[in-house]
Amino acid sequence: EYDTMKPHVAVLPSPGMGHIIPLFELAKSLVVHHNCHVSFLNITTEASAAQTHLLRSPACTVLSPGLQVIDLPPVDISALVSEETLVLTRLSIIVQESLKSDLKSVLIDLGELQALVIDFFCTQAFEICRELSIPTYTFCTTSTAFLCFSLYLPTLDREVECEFVDLLESIQVPDCAPVRIEDLLDQARNRKIDEYKWLLLHLSRLPMATGIFLNLWEDLEPKSLKAIREHSFYKQIPTPPIHAIGPLIKQDEVPMTERDAECLAWLDKQPLDSVLFIALGSGGTLTAAQLTELAWGLELSRQRFILVVRKPTNTSASGTFFNAGGDVNDPTAYLPEGFLERTKGVGLVIPSWAPQVMVLRHSSTGAFLSHCGWNSILESITHGVPMIAWPLYAEQRMNATMLVEEVGLVVKLAAGGGLEKGVVEREEIGRVIRMVMEGNEGKVMRHRARELKDSAEKALNFGGSSYKSLSCVVQQWKADIS
Ligand code: UDP
Repeated sequence: EYDTMKPHVAVLPSPGMGHIIPLFELAKSLVVHHNCHVSFLNITTEASAAQTHLLRSPACTVLSPGLQVIDLPPVDISALVSEETLVLTRLSIIVQESLKSDLKSVLIDLGELQALVIDFFCTQAFEICRELSIPTYTFCTTSTAFLCFSLYLPTLDREVECEFVDLLESIQVPDCAPVRIEDLLDQARNRKIDEYKWLLLHLSRLPMATGIFLNLWEDLEPKSLKAIREHSFYKQIPTPPIHAIGPLIKQDEVPMTERDAECLAWLDKQPLDSVLFIALGSGGTLTAAQLTELAWGLELSRQRFILVVRKPTNTSASGTFFNAGGDVNDPTAYLPEGFLERTKGVGLVIPSWAPQVMVLRHSSTGAFLSHCGWNSILESITHGVPMIAWPLYAEQRMNATMLVEEVGLVVKLAAGGGLEKGVVEREEIGRVIRMVMEGNEGKVMRHRARELKDSAEKALNFGGSSYKSLSCVVQQWKADIS
């Protein structure tokens, strides 16, 4: 039983570490800093080791009874999907089936709730919460620029008849940086398939939220934040109130696995800012040809590195999305012959999953070659680490462009990203790595990264803009307790 004077909030992420991690941080922050009681609803799928490690760690049991993790029973979706089902369709079907059978009764059992916080893709919850009179907030796990695009998509869908990829010019999102057609997310590149229909459905429901949380802070994207709050287009939707409450990023893993400890011990022995960290999110997979080029590019760069590798695949750029990182297996089977021997001492190869936040925090880490998932971006910024962008899936190409053009924290490779883009060659990879690790560009970016780190810290501290935004909402919840 819990204190009935505390707001009781339920939090519901969709599957995928990129959603679970930030929503779990929100849950912890509500408990630790804002005196709330939180029920974290976990949609169980092919739950990965990483997911279990996160949600069942002793560090979070310490927070109970303020924070309880409730597993929604697994659902059988085998009749509704096939091998070919694309990532957002699969995710949406898992969420749909899981919420249909369990959400209402779970919410009723929880008793009086002041709010449910969901991510972008749990929008079936809106109807259920409306029926139960529970205010529902959306937690946006990506940029303001993408949120603006999302709010504009239903209009674009009505006004444009052809495929968006056939448009001759960039998409003019009201008062925001135009979205280049080549940066358009995978889910909007073919309007005839289910994946686009799911995207459109979820995004058209954004206005149903009582409020929208953004996992960033006022000074990261001031232009887009101003647009979304003040431009008539967003006002007339109407857009729910926007609360910038981040960056909420993953905390250190306690306890560490043995492999994590080895990785950090190796970093301890390397010079300051000398190591390039390469990791492609929870889902990112490369083709065999691309992995070969990356490995050779690393060798050519002659820099120290940590490479998180997964078994290559030619069918998907997000091959390990539903089981974070995939299975641990033997990298010698798919890295160039002799690679491990030749790079021994200067490089560390880690199969499938690394303690990313701890690596980025380490003073030996000098740059991050990333797929530009939003959490990875925030983690890099808050540790003052510049990035090389290797966008692969979802909205990552848009993120990369935004970071290059508006934030100045990132360099892009000359080609590549995603399956359709062709292979980025080893010379280009080697050149960009050297430029960031040794060149002046790297120094400028590192300086910029450290400025951003300071501004993020300020926003999060007691009295900072993000702290205050979240407090304001919690005050509202407190006032709502009947
Ligand atoms: N992550 C990790 N180790 C890995 C790969 C990823 O700890 O080897 C974590 C990373 O720190 C981040 C999350 O998984 O918090 C990935 O989220 P992101 O938004 O960057 O990408 P997504 O997986 O959603 O594409």
